[in-house]
Amino acid sequence: MPLWQALVFAGLATSAAAEGPLSVGPITARPGEAATGWIEVPDAADPGARIPVTVVNGARPGPVLALIAGTHGYEYTSVVALPRVRARLDPARMTGAVILVHMANPPAFYGRRIYYNADGKNLNRMYPGRADGTQTERIAAAITREVIDRATHVIDMHCGDGNESLRPYSYWQISGRADLDAAGKELALAFGLDHIVIDRDRPKDPAKSVYTSNTAVLRGKPAITVESGGMGGTDAASVDAQVAGALSVVRHLGIQDTPSVRVEKPLFVDRAEVLTAPATGVWSWAVEKSQSVAAGTLVGRVHDPFGTVLGEVRAPFGGEVLYVVATPPVTKGEPVAFVGHLTEQAPQ
Ligand SMILES: [Zn+2]
Repeated sequence: MPLWQALVFAGLATSAAAEGPLSVGPITARPGEAATGWIEVPDAADPGARIPVTVVNGARPGPVLALIAGTHGYEYTSVVALPRVRARLDPARMTGAVILVHMANPPAFYGRRIYYNADGKNLNRMYPGRADGTQTERIAAAITREVIDRATHVIDMHCGDGNESLRPYSYWQISGRADLDAAGKELALAFGLDHIVIDRDRPKDPAKSVYTSNTAVLRGKPAITVESGGMGGTDAASVDAQVAGALSVVRHLGIQDTPSVRVEKPLFVDRAEVLTAPATGVWSWAVEKSQSVAAGTLVGRVHDPFGTVLGEVRAPFGGEVLYVVATPPVTKGEPVAFVGHLTEQAPQ
């Protein structure tokens, strides 16, 4: 058996449903109770972090759903949504548990940082993390150990970053393990966002899982990433979608009888491409989120500070703009847009 398979099966064995008290870091909730507190990431060569968490442990054992908000510091909709989700959960009526990570990356949130922490690293590229690493790596290690390893299902809640104008969608990753892939699809449908990006390209090595949700999947736990909102906003529709989606998954897993927003007619994104800046400079975008584009449609141009065109970006194929960077600064190689081709057919 390859090492990664052995680790996946070991992960399955340790992800049994909650029974008795449930502890996340120093926070312990007994059956039928909720508890709040902080996962402490100690200072080292650079500052640590205190990650705010609520553990809601149902009166009866069942699935353990982890909701992870605020991985990126300038993405606010999930951070605003989770207290509303918490208010709807009643541990006395619950079968299973919900772990709410209210803010996965406090240094980036309070620092108003887009993409990168002060150590230059992106939290959603550092998993499973390193306990002896820099700030971002230590945060990832703490979330892997204290949250993902305690959960049976994981939802990583994002939106467009502070510079990204985004239409809502979820990522359903195909791991190649049929049971996990089927369960992941059901999570995406249950969350209720009608555009579902099929992602086949995540790493397969649990020691280099890179992404939050991929860390869960490679440990045998169904997981999705969801995106609703962007541009540093907290508009009601984007936040409402995060609240409704999380509660709908709570229902889907049989944890509590909350309202369902399951999507009945999903559109699957069977081909998607992140378009990147051809040069460092001043970006002027030519499309809007949700806009349909044809192959060759101008997405935007990069100018130098004097106004001379340095390069342009065009759609590589026909589809829809899932997000577009809608502020001027761009650095060569960084994303400027995400284009997806839509189909009503789920892959077999
Ligand atoms: Zn994000």
